[in-house]
Amino acid sequence: MDRAHYNAKVTGKIMITPDLMILHLETDEPREDFEAGQFIVLGLYGFEKRSLNSEMELFPQEEEKLILKPYSIASAIKDTRQLEFYISQVKSGQLSPRLFNLNIDDKLYVGPKMAGIFRLDETPDGTDIVMVATGTGIAPYISFLRSHIVERPESKMVLIQGAAHRWDLGYYSELTFLEQTYANFFYVPTLIDPDDHWHGYRLCIEDLLKKDVLQNEFNITPDSERTRFFITGSPEMVSHVSEWLNDFGYTRHHPDTPGEMYIEEF
Ligand SMILES: Cc1cc2nc3c(=O)[nH]c(=O)nc-3n(C[C@H](O)[C@H](O)[C@H](O)COP(=O)(O)OP(=O)(O)OC[C@H]3O[C@@H](n4cnc5c(N)ncnc54)[C@H](O)[C@@H]3O)c2cc1C
Repeated sequence: MDRAHYNAKVTGKIMITPDLMILHLETDEPREDFEAGQFIVLGLYGFEKRSLNSEMELFPQEEEKLILKPYSIASAIKDTRQLEFYISQVKSGQLSPRLFNLNIDDKLYVGPKMAGIFRLDETPDGTDIVMVATGTGIAPYISFLRSHIVERPESKMVLIQGAAHRWDLGYYSELTFLEQTYANFFYVPTLIDPDDHWHGYRLCIEDLLKKDVLQNEFNITPDSERTRFFITGSPEMVSHVSEWLNDFGYTRHHPDTPGEMYIEEF
């Protein structure tokens, strides 16, 4: 078993639930500077063991194949060697069950470059920012906030996070702390299957937006001149929210055809 291509090691692993974790990696060499919201490729060989609570993979991997998948960076842009990731386990998947089996000091492959156009720095100064996510789609927003919240006091920044249960809200403590610390930041978690102790929203993200929560609570209108939307997570949610925004004249952002709606599907 040749692990010669591995160029990083695990320095921290926080299990949020059995299928959700925050993973800290240290690369052997620093990477180039990156922008908040970008991703990098992680990789493990097919011969690596899968986690104990995973399932049989749909398509068994060749032992010597390096399985590569992109993951959004959750850490701030100031450190290009210590990287944080927020990862959910697809139980029958190829790579994520192998990532979940890693322990401190285990080695893995991290790609050479950060990439992606899901970037806060491409939005005009002064525009309000609405960040919408399901599941681990919140990872790029953690990097946005850790990297830039101090620099954008003139922008309102709202993060709407959809999940099933309270325990699926990784980063809840950090985000509520940021909300108490910065007057321009608002955290709006919404759960579709909460317990009786949950006092927040109990709607799917699409319904929450249609009920005008942004206007009523934060005086933010879906106006493409004044408000930029970032959307990431499940393809179904991304599709519903982008259709809703299309009705307000929003178009999807591409490098060649700039728009006001930034989308990343996981
Ligand atoms: C730009 C980008 C950034 C990403 N960032 C993250 C991140 O920060 N955190 C993260 O956890 N993932 C992220 N992903 C997803 C990640 O790259 C993998 O696709 C995911 O971990 C599943 O890989 P796998 O090899 O375990 O499963 P696969 O073997 O690829 O998938 C197995 C089966 O599960 C289905 N499936 C794939 N992904 C999911 C999913 N997320 N939920 C449920 N079913 C799924 C597939 O349809 C397939 O049938 C990102 C993807 C992209 C494109």
